[in-house]
Amino acid sequence: MLIAGNWKMNGRLADADWPRAFAEAGGGAGREVLVCPPATLLAPLAGGLREAGVRLGAQDCSAHPDGAHTGQLSAAMLADLGCSHVLVGHSERRAGQGETDAIVRAKAEAALVAALVPIVCVGETRAERETGRAEAVVCAQVRASTPREGGFIIAYEPVWAIGTGLTPGQDDITAMHAAVREAAGERAFGVLYGGSVKPQNAAAILALEEVDGALVGGASLNPADLAAIARSAAR
Ligand code: PEP
Repeated sequence: MLIAGNWKMNGRLADADWPRAFAEAGGGAGREVLVCPPATLLAPLAGGLREAGVRLGAQDCSAHPDGAHTGQLSAAMLADLGCSHVLVGHSERRAGQGETDAIVRAKAEAALVAALVPIVCVGETRAERETGRAEAVVCAQVRASTPREGGFIIAYEPVWAIGTGLTPGQDDITAMHAAVREAAGERAFGVLYGGSVKPQNAAAILALEEVDGALVGGASLNPADLAAIARSAAR
């Protein structure tokens, strides 16, 4: 069970006291918790998160090793800062930065070279779901965006559920996770659910047997909310 927070493009140096507030709100309550702040806050947060028992992750990495790639951050640089995980292929990057499955796979493979665990994000759009193609689209993403060797985590995040307050029904989550797990094969460490996870709905989602944790966007900015989500994971 992994509870991962994705701060997206939010946060300032003043948020470096987030780990203390998280600990005061009860912390991870024995669950594995990961926070992926923006790159500017990786170093300022690293020590505090470690003290609060929270892992540090990045939101993206370059597919290239160190070198002439202006503006990019290599997986080795992220590992150097203390990251253990990196998100790759978040739908906001697939849509906004034109990241293809092949690019996402290359990033996941670069992460593994630097001993980071890649969290490969997949998910269908509303139109794909409404036309009955959700499972086929998502499984194709899984097969084409995951590394060809080595372990990884999948985050199943329906695009229409991200930041909208909408979530799939429990049967839908179970069915999609089962399909994702089969497509991912035995190198997948687990399948997280993401998309509008909040303290109010976390217990029901995390109780599903097929769900190995959550990728939490908006609610992870609030330390008390992320602590409440971690607490609601019964296993
Ligand atoms: C996300 O962006 O990964 C996400 C799940 O966002 P939210 O929880 O805000 O829907």
